[in-house]
Amino acid sequence: MFDTLSDKLDAALKNVKGEGRINELNIAETMREVRRALLDADVNYQVAKDFTNKVKETVTDEKVLQAVNPGQQFVKAIHDELVYLLGDVHVDLNKAKKPPTVILVAGLQGAGKTTFVGKLALFLKAKGRSPLVAAADVYRPAAVDQLETLAAQVKVPVFSIRDAAGVPEKDAVRVAREAVAEAKRTGRDTVLIDTAGRLHVDEAMMEEVVAIKRETDPDEILFVVDAMTGQDAVNTAKAFNDQLDVDGVVLTKLDGDTRGGAALSIRSVVEKPIKFASMGEKLDALTEFYPDRMAQRILGMGDVVSFVEKAQEQFDEEEAEKLQRKFRTQDFDLQDFYDQLQKIKNMGSLKDLLGMIPGVGRAVKELDVDDDAFRHIEALIQSMTPFERANPDKLNGSRRRRVAQGAGLEVQDVNALLKQFREMKKMMKTMSKLQGKGRAVDPTQ
Ligand code: GDP
Repeated sequence: MFDTLSDKLDAALKNVKGEGRINELNIAETMREVRRALLDADVNYQVAKDFTNKVKETVTDEKVLQAVNPGQQFVKAIHDELVYLLGDVHVDLNKAKKPPTVILVAGLQGAGKTTFVGKLALFLKAKGRSPLVAAADVYRPAAVDQLETLAAQVKVPVFSIRDAAGVPEKDAVRVAREAVAEAKRTGRDTVLIDTAGRLHVDEAMMEEVVAIKRETDPDEILFVVDAMTGQDAVNTAKAFNDQLDVDGVVLTKLDGDTRGGAALSIRSVVEKPIKFASMGEKLDALTEFYPDRMAQRILGMGDVVSFVEKAQEQFDEEEAEKLQRKFRTQDFDLQDFYDQLQKIKNMGSLKDLLGMIPGVGRAVKELDVDDDAFRHIEALIQSMTPFERANPDKLNGSRRRRVAQGAGLEVQDVNALLKQFREMKKMMKTMSKLQGKGRAVDPTQ
């Protein structure tokens, strides 16, 4: 996710990272490169300009100019500004005072609405809610089938109306209205209404969604948009928001080769929070959107919080705390890495999860980690002794050869793993230092 942007920001910051002091010259150069990185990522022009101006203001502050490690201050300024741009704080879904909570899901065709409705149903179910999904995307008969299939997979009831021949009811407003009544009757606490999209914003589509809104008085209107579409996503979001006054935005396809423009521009252009990020076709590939975590991922700091959270689903609390402490104190060794990988196997997409570990993200990208590469890491650590796992630095040439041989791999595979692990630890160190420096960067909270 946002790999190119991450790489370019990283390159821009290299200007100041090694410098003893920030000065006008390296600020100007860095800001120019940061702005170019943002524009290349398809960030709205005005947004990119405001961004660099604000960062510049922060780093030209006297205190920062005098700081011992100006590079870190620069990273922090960019991090804080990214967090602000992405919405500052996480915003939860609205909830009705009296159930059922009605959530209306709108967006263009192909944005990922129906998939998202399935994912959200699963997400809410895991939180103890009892959703009903409503198939109000009535023009594409396959959409009703698709929703029924998804609902069956997540074991959530679906409301649709079909005639005797099995043809879906064409009146979307009626489907939505009756779905809400059905939820009341059957005691479901949330109704998720999947609506019809078109290829482009058009009047008939808007009128229909507006009519569903009027009829069902939703507590939450979510606009779903394909993040891959860049500035178009921002324009579409604006058009939907003008008509519907949405409560939140859902960005989909963040697992793809997304440049980041949509994610970084939507909040300030549309002034509505991003509430969810969808990162894959699998039904568990949905995360709540946290601006600080996203900023850390963009800056290649990994996303320890999401990682730890997912991990907590696998560990008991005590174990999770131990892990967090190890992240902080740098006690994380290869045995821990191995143990995490074992648990990660149960935690969804391997590549996404590894990408959340600080410093591993980029290495994973280069390695193109598929299950094979994962098995390699596993095999390599397995063929190490407990002493070697606890002290990777002690792996000299002959030990590396033995480990490689034991795993049926090459010495360069051992080297790659150790390099990756070293980078990860280095990043953890940077993060724990940043933690001491005031607001926003505290991945353990
Ligand atoms: P709708 O027309 O808005 O209801 O869109 P769909 O839910 O049918 O999704 C359109 C296509 O995008 C389908 O092939 C989905 O599998 C795919 N899709 C949806 N969300 C994601 C995502 O987060 N990542 C990826 N890679 N594909 C997605």
